[in-house]
Amino acid sequence: MHCLCEVLDPAKYALEKPVAILEDKEALLSLFGIPSDFWLNMFQFDNRLLTVCFESNDLDYLRIIVVYDYPYFCSDKEIKEAIIFHELGHILHPVLEKEINHQAEISCDQNAVIHGHENGVKKVLAMLSRTARTINSPLLLEAAELRTKALNTEAC
Ligand SMILES: [Zn+2]
Repeated sequence: MHCLCEVLDPAKYALEKPVAILEDKEALLSLFGIPSDFWLNMFQFDNRLLTVCFESNDLDYLRIIVVYDYPYFCSDKEIKEAIIFHELGHILHPVLEKEINHQAEISCDQNAVIHGHENGVKKVLAMLSRTARTINSPLLLEAAELRTKALNTEAC
């Protein structure tokens, strides 16, 4: 089950066509191989980290951004905008499903920074690093560290 939650204004986000934001818990759980929302709660896994950007089958939309819990996704404006601009960055810096591409992720963070959301990116990376420790994932931790380092280098 998914629902259309928001349509991003192409003018505000410098897009050629609107991008839709959908909420679809089941799709994201299965995409990330997460057994249930119980697991997310158990590890205090912030579900905003599950946000992904897909190609759209609907010609009205350039891309589809899928979020786990739309009201929660919107609860912190800085984080929300940083995630949206990061995801839109993937239009120019695509990554395959299950692929880890640190350089692409860093470029997408930069896209959010360029649009004025450095603070939000910092919050997202702090969240990612916290989560990586909680679930004890060296891969996620490496991603969080490299992205944080890139952000700090850029800020100097
Ligand atoms: Zn990304």
